[in-house]
Amino acid sequence: MSSTDSPSTDALITEPAVTFSSLGLVEPLLRAIADKGYEIPSPIQAQGIPAVLTGADVMAAAQTGTGKTAGFTLPLLQRLAESALEGAKVMPNHVRALVLTPTRELAAQVQESVKDYSRHLPRVKSAVVFGGVKINPQIAFMRGGVDVLVATPGRLLDLYQQGVVKFNQLEVLILDEADRMLDMGFIRDIKRIMSLLPQQRQTLLYSATFSGEIRTLAEGMLKSPVQVDVSPRNSTAPSVTQWLHPVDKSEKTALLCHLMKKQDWQQVLVFTRTKHGANNLVKKLEKAGLSAAAIHGNKSQGARTRALADFKKGEVRALVATDIAARGLDIEQLPQVVNFELPSVAEDYVHRIGRTGRAGAKGKAISLVCADEAKQLAGIERLIKGVIKREMVDGFEPDHRVPSSNLKAQPGEKFVNKPGGNKPANGSRRPRKPGSTSQGRAKPTSSGQRRNTSGNR
Ligand code: AMP
Repeated sequence: MSSTDSPSTDALITEPAVTFSSLGLVEPLLRAIADKGYEIPSPIQAQGIPAVLTGADVMAAAQTGTGKTAGFTLPLLQRLAESALEGAKVMPNHVRALVLTPTRELAAQVQESVKDYSRHLPRVKSAVVFGGVKINPQIAFMRGGVDVLVATPGRLLDLYQQGVVKFNQLEVLILDEADRMLDMGFIRDIKRIMSLLPQQRQTLLYSATFSGEIRTLAEGMLKSPVQVDVSPRNSTAPSVTQWLHPVDKSEKTALLCHLMKKQDWQQVLVFTRTKHGANNLVKKLEKAGLSAAAIHGNKSQGARTRALADFKKGEVRALVATDIAARGLDIEQLPQVVNFELPSVAEDYVHRIGRTGRAGAKGKAISLVCADEAKQLAGIERLIKGVIKREMVDGFEPDHRVPSSNLKAQPGEKFVNKPGGNKPANGSRRPRKPGSTSQGRAKPTSSGQRRNTSGNR
């Protein structure tokens, strides 16, 4: 991995004395870690790995980008290797460890990690199953039995009902991004799956945020869990710089094109609230000469995989995604995320901006916010306990003011930014100069009218 991926911020730095070998990991895993170029364990790894190795249930609060996947995969593989030494061998159609994830993309990525980290261990069979693709190859693969099965809940239940997946040999269950699974309405599926698993097992639950609902779920499925909490609850990663541009709704597309061109963004993940909105935005960006692709639930798995691959290769500059589709995407060195629309669920803001600034790299999260979104903005600022810095973009100052959240810290609370007013993009308050726009946009008139809104925005 490149130097920008190496741990360099609070999200990944731990006590210098902690090394992967001091965590009790076996040599083949240490070699796989060295192959990946990881030098020091991240906090979730430093705290979580020893806990998982003891065989205890674990409940961990960790955002994406903190190294949580390795945090559970490494000790999981070690535990499976140990029980294999004691004679455990997977039987046809059986599963020894099950990782449940909310989305297909996350499932695929977790299985990639399982393959990477198990490469020096004696044969570990892993598989990934999710909907939206043919079931028959999955059925065929399951026949041989699988040590680690990574699955989304719906397809897993399908396979179970067809008698293809059996849980009698299950040793470990992991729920990854449990908060998102609840948000996506998987609670019934999860409860059903839980009822099919042996009582005697180790259960690990990872969640970016710990809501009351998650705690209730955990109470029902974990036994005296060790709690690992490496991030302040509902916080955003410190490696991500956040700000927002107040802008009228009708000007958002033009502003996005302007930013992409002016700042020469070659790779930006853009969030819209709806699938329709994502498709629309892609069309408009392409019309403006900016390559773009959409990724959302109405796209076939093939189209989603292709869009992601093109984006990763740099063939597509903007990947426009809905919250659900973007969940779990791990794109190395993604420099910026744009919230084209704020999410209606405040927690999604934390997840969205967690797509950038991963593994300690620096990231930018920019929100284009219109007056209609004041309520969502207030919800987000309350959640992250901070006021997001506002920056006006010359020529895009909104006609409709975005009200401030009027956040007041409660006793004992600390806010990351002080509530502040609107500032121009260069950070200093200055009168806007006529003609100070770039790329021939926004032309203020002498009569004080803001701009000429005609043209091809
Ligand atoms: P995750 O939070 O599991 O999605 O991991 C985010 C990124 O961090 C992935 O690209 C990992 O490869 C990377 N990563 C995980 N652990 C470490 C580590 N100890 N040092 C550096 N990078 C890491």
